[in-house]
Amino acid sequence: MQRYLSLYVHIPFCVVKCKYCDFLSFDGESYGTMLRYVDSLCQEIRLYEPIADEYIVRTIFIGGGTPSLLDESLITNILAFIRRVFVLDKDCEITVEANPGTLRHQKLNGYKAAGVNRLSIGLQSADDELLKKLGRIHNFDQFVASFSAARRAGFMNINVDVMSGLPGQSIHSYVETLSKVLDFAPEHISAYSLQVEEGTPLAKDPELMAELPPDMIDRRMYDITKQLLGAKGYDRYEISNYAKAGYECRHNMVYWTGGEYVGFGIGAASYFQGKRFSNIRGILDYIRLMEQAGDRFSDVKNLELLYNEITKELRENVAPVYLYSRMEEFMFLGLRMMCGVSREDFAERFKKDIYEVYGPVLNHYIEQGYMAEIGDRIILTERGIDVSNIILADFILDKE
Ligand code: SF4
Repeated sequence: MQRYLSLYVHIPFCVVKCKYCDFLSFDGESYGTMLRYVDSLCQEIRLYEPIADEYIVRTIFIGGGTPSLLDESLITNILAFIRRVFVLDKDCEITVEANPGTLRHQKLNGYKAAGVNRLSIGLQSADDELLKKLGRIHNFDQFVASFSAARRAGFMNINVDVMSGLPGQSIHSYVETLSKVLDFAPEHISAYSLQVEEGTPLAKDPELMAELPPDMIDRRMYDITKQLLGAKGYDRYEISNYAKAGYECRHNMVYWTGGEYVGFGIGAASYFQGKRFSNIRGILDYIRLMEQAGDRFSDVKNLELLYNEITKELRENVAPVYLYSRMEEFMFLGLRMMCGVSREDFAERFKKDIYEVYGPVLNHYIEQGYMAEIGDRIILTERGIDVSNIILADFILDKE
């Protein structure tokens, strides 16, 4: 019987690095490097040829980095290669992440012709000063131009990313960003709060760090997001994700519900046939070694070596997913969604009742009103969502 599968393709190139970014991405790489990288991606995709016909691919997410840096011919090549190896569902959701300022009419038409049917545009803020402060490459006008061009090219499923808790961001500035985004009526809005990651230029900049709004203000921004977007008909289906009916991101739902996915590219991770393996593990050490030796990622020889490392990891099919960590993941991801987790689904996957494993913690939080059981489903209540990080940490299992 054929099973469903999702594919993630990692494009690790950006024009310049944003100050808060700790994703695996490289700035200033040449077109030649991108070409070589796409070639290597196709080799990696080919590794799955022997088992590909057991699956139907229902979603593809080309993420980054800044995938929209790639011109239409490279995106077309990647998707054509995927189609040669895998069978795609007839309404397969195919998303490309895009940075305003990198989308042009011709590129958008090319993406459309290649089968891309969803765009995810990283705006972050409508405040040009704030964008500059974060090291973003675009301003709000470029977002407007990109969004309008995407609509003209026929993209009727667009996500816009916005961020709260940014250095120097006032509630007024955040509300203005939301209102301006709502004027464009995108089908989906992701609203994340900034997480300061160790080692980023932001974390090392005391002036910017001093401008971070206090938690209370960030919390208020979160509440405002719920109210404003809710009033405009967006359903909050995950803690940070809002969609008009029927436009939930199907690819992310696969992650959050424990479905199977395979990632291609240097920063990709997979959950495939009960095993979790990550291209990034080991590769980061490898890149560090190269950098210490004064080498650059863009060297073609290094790229090939990098990919040899990846395929070696894949062949070894690293680290089986242990039962406990799968249960933890099921709870962490499922509880982030407003519909929560299903008792029946848990029992089917793990051959245990959820209360057998998590009885004390569930009973405690349900009694306190932080969680609720509705029919077959267990959810975080509004009160629970406010302290979700603390609650989710209690779902880590003691494996001794
Ligand atoms: S565009 Fe995205 S991936 Fe690239 S540097 Fe900025 S935050 Fe990082």
